[in-house]
Amino acid sequence: MDREDIFVIYGKKPKAMARELLERAGVADEIPEGASIGLKPNLVVSKSAESGATTSPEIVEALIEYLKEHGFGDITIMESSWVGDDTRRAYRVCGYEEISKRYGVPLLDLKRDKAIFHEAGGLKIEYCDTPFRVDYLINLPVLKGHCQTAMTCALKNMKGCITDREKRRFHTLGLHKPIACLNKVRAADLVLVDGMRGDLDFEEGGNPVQMNRMLLCKDSVLIDAYVAQIMGYDLEEIPYITLAAELGVGSLDVESANIVEMNRDESGVSLTSSRRARALAKYIDESDACSACYGSLIHALARLEDRGMLRGIRGKIHIGQGFKGKEPGGMGVGVCAKGCEKCVPGCPPKAIDIVRMLEESISSGGKR
Ligand code: SF4
Repeated sequence: MDREDIFVIYGKKPKAMARELLERAGVADEIPEGASIGLKPNLVVSKSAESGATTSPEIVEALIEYLKEHGFGDITIMESSWVGDDTRRAYRVCGYEEISKRYGVPLLDLKRDKAIFHEAGGLKIEYCDTPFRVDYLINLPVLKGHCQTAMTCALKNMKGCITDREKRRFHTLGLHKPIACLNKVRAADLVLVDGMRGDLDFEEGGNPVQMNRMLLCKDSVLIDAYVAQIMGYDLEEIPYITLAAELGVGSLDVESANIVEMNRDESGVSLTSSRRARALAKYIDESDACSACYGSLIHALARLEDRGMLRGIRGKIHIGQGFKGKEPGGMGVGVCAKGCEKCVPGCPPKAIDIVRMLEESISSGGKR
């Protein structure tokens, strides 16, 4: 398997598809004998793969069976859910506890892993120790949208390998550069993309689109550039991909990639985002907001839009760490914006509580 290869398979049976991909690409020949192997799925929230947020457990099963059959026994599943969710709950809800028992593969909650600092691209990053140390790291992202970075796939999924404190700090640094630097510290050796079912607007799922595909590539930049293309994004809209290429993480050259389509796409599904999150962003005054917080606010606004209430909102809603210690007036979301006249507490707050505050404000005509 060469670095410029992108293998793509279409279908409805994730376990069989993953197996076919691994065999066709000859993945076992890529891994050093006796290597310790880390599997990094996307379990950003405690929601099953049906929601379009998390990696299908069938793909992980196929991968473990394949690796064991080829003599690799030192395998660990590792992940850290986003700030505000519990990785162990995500393991349970998403079916990974069962996999762990069945195959004797340990589950590591990276929120409890030792943290060490590494520097890359001029940034010191608080990285979890185990993903950095395994001999071979396999990234298993979900192909999906993201309300702050447009899309998330291989490069951004590595954000689950840093501490919660660092995840928060990444948002204060604008996300794109730190995501690129993070992959410079330790990029995955192999990326197996779950494109079976993904939410094309929100990383936390809820509006899954049946996409019926799976992709395999060694280069995290190349696979992200390819996915951006099939989702209809220009690379300028997702700066972290180009920044990672500039740091030498991988190649942007999709035109020269060797794309091996193992069968035909008969789904006819469009992978284009509705860009709804971007349209709703005009109601928000954001300064360094964490994904969970920002996602709750976008979901709350989407609910109000469904009810035809958005026009009643007066002024922008403040959110993010940049509002800590400030008194910007108006409405705020999250403990960081508690200096606002009216604020939904929580870190992160729940979408339902934000909906309630906005409804109250709209029904009172914006009077506080
Ligand atoms: S309130 Fe929101 S933006 Fe502030 S630290 Fe918590 S999750 Fe992040």
